Amino acid sequence: KLRETLEVVRYDKRMETEDIDHKRIERELRRALIEGHGLEVHYQPIVPANPGAGPTRYEALARWTSPELGKVSPERFIKVAEATGLILPLGWKLLDLVCADMCLLDKARVSINVSPTQLMSRGFAEKFTAIVLSHGIAPWRIEVEVTEQIVVRDDATIEQELIALSHNGFTLALDDFGTGFASIGYLTQMPFDGLKIDRSFVRSIEDGQQGMRMVRSIVGLARAMDLSIVAEGVENEAEAVLLRRIGADYLQGYYFGRPAPASAWVKDSPTPKGPKPV
Ligand code: C2E
Ligand code: MG
Ligand code: MG
Ligand code: MG
Repeated sequence: KLRETLEVVRYDKRMETEDIDHKRIERELRRALIEGHGLEVHYQPIVPANPGAGPTRYEALARWTSPELGKVSPERFIKVAEATGLILPLGWKLLDLVCADMCLLDKARVSINVSPTQLMSRGFAEKFTAIVLSHGIAPWRIEVEVTEQIVVRDDATIEQELIALSHNGFTLALDDFGTGFASIGYLTQMPFDGLKIDRSFVRSIEDGQQGMRMVRSIVGLARAMDLSIVAEGVENEAEAVLLRRIGADYLQGYYFGRPAPASAWVKDSPTPKGPKPV
C-alpha cells in the first residue's frame, strides 16, 4: 500500500517537473521567435547508397540554444511548439533560414521536416510555395518530410495540403516509416515520392534474420510502389554494407556525417569538408 502511494507521488512529481519544463520552454521559445536569435538549422548529409548514383542531399534539422535553458533538443522543443501552436511561426522562421542557406549548399536538394499541425493549417502549401519561390529556389530542390504519425490524424486538410505541395513541385517523403500505421492503401493514395526507414529498423538488421527480413520487406514494398528509400540512423560500416545489399537508395546517419551548419558542407571551402563521421 505504502509502495503504491510512493509510486503515485513519484509519478505526480515527474508530471509536475515536465509541466514546469514545458512552460519554461514555451516562454523561452516565444522570446526566441520575437527576438530572432538562438534558432539555427543544421544539415545532415543523405548520401547515395552507391557512389555515383546521384548527388548528396541534406536533411535540415532545427537547433535551438536559449540564453536561459542552453541547448534544447528538437525532440523537446518541437513537441512544445506543436502543443502550443508556436510550430507555425517557428516553421516559417526555419523555412526562411533554410532558403537563405540553400545558396551555400549549391545545387543540393534539402529535406525539410513539417509537422502535422503545420499541415492542418489551411493555406499552408500556398504560403510554403510562395516563400520558396520568393527566394528564387526551384521547388524540386526541396523535399518535405512528414512523419508517419500523420496517418493517425486522418485529417482532410493534411491530405489537401500534401497534394497541393506535390502539385507545386515539391517531393514528399514519409518519415520514420515503420513506427506508425501507414497502410499500403494510404501510401498509394497519397503523392509520396519516398520513404525513410526509421532508425529503430536500421538498428535491428544487425540483430539477425528477423530484422533483415523486416527491412527487406519494407524495401520490397517501396520498390513495388516506385518509392525511393532512405535508411536513417546508419551508425557503422556493417549497417551501411547490409543496407546497400538490401537495396536502399540513400543512407543517412552519424557514420556519414553529423548535422552541421551549412557552411561546414560548402564544397570548395578552404576548411575541412564538414565534421568527420564518428
Ligand atoms: P527526424 O526527422 O527523424 O530526424 C532524424 C533524427 O535522427 C535527427 O535528430 C538526427 O540528428 C538523428 N540522427 C541522424 N543520424 C543518426 C544516427 O546515426 N544515430 C542516431 N542515434 N540518431 C541520428 P534531431 O536533430 O534531434 O531531430 C529529432 C526530430 O525532431 C526529427 O526527427 C524531427 O522529427 C524533429 N525535427 C527536427 N527539426 C525539425 C524541424 O525543423 N521541423 C519539424 N517540424 N520537426 C523537426
Ligand atoms: Mg526527418
Ligand atoms: Mg526520421
Ligand atoms: Mg526519426
